[in-house]
Amino acid sequence: MKYKRILLKLSGEALMGERQYGIDPKILSEYANEVKQIISKGVEVAIVIGGGNIFRGVAGASKGMDRVQADHMGMLATVINGLALQSAFDDAGLPTRLQSAIKINEVAEPFIRRRAIRHLEKGRVVIFGGGTGNPYFTTDSAAVLRAIEIDAEVILKGTRVDGIYTADPEKDDQATKFEFISFDDVLRKGLKVMDTTAFTLSQENELPIIVFDMNKKGNLLKVVSGEAIGTKVNL
Ligand code: UDP
Repeated sequence: MKYKRILLKLSGEALMGERQYGIDPKILSEYANEVKQIISKGVEVAIVIGGGNIFRGVAGASKGMDRVQADHMGMLATVINGLALQSAFDDAGLPTRLQSAIKINEVAEPFIRRRAIRHLEKGRVVIFGGGTGNPYFTTDSAAVLRAIEIDAEVILKGTRVDGIYTADPEKDDQATKFEFISFDDVLRKGLKVMDTTAFTLSQENELPIIVFDMNKKGNLLKVVSGEAIGTKVNL
């Protein structure tokens, strides 16, 4: 395996599958199987889960809700997704710990860096819920932050598209995919990989990002083995 310790970022929307809202149990078990494949190869796996399938702070604020209050709802949504993911991982026989950035001790461990690393060393999947624990941030920022904190070698951003394109491939049939691209070029070309705060944090800490299609069976294993799947953002 090319990578020994990875941080997998899954958006909340990914969990919806074909639905318009909420969680599709079929997707959860598919993801559990994908993760199981790389755990069996000895890869240490941490996951940051989003909440956009349930609630986004910006959407609440746009309807007149206080932004901080709305972001708290968004953070709780990520904990709900984390619990759902943990349950599917349990069913797949994967030992898993959910750590939350906001204290909710009856349902999840608090985020404790050293404990998270210990879990990883023992072969447990660690799911980070609650984002960064702060409003005005996204789970992409949480993904980069946690990846740096636990010394992950790479962020794997699992999406519905198979990489970064010159333009939106769903709207422009001339769009071509990058195999590699530098952080500077992403910024120069105005491409959207993560929000700027998350992206800059990754760049400053020289943490590469791979964007790939998580919904294609076997892709996660391929990425972790070093196959040129998706797009890699490097220095
Ligand atoms: N959120 C937050 N702080 C964080 C991470 C998330 O306030 O550090 C809130 C924010 O309201 C966000 C919501 O949680 O809209 C869900 O996260 P995100 O939009 O990143 O989820 P994704 O797009 O990955 O599904």
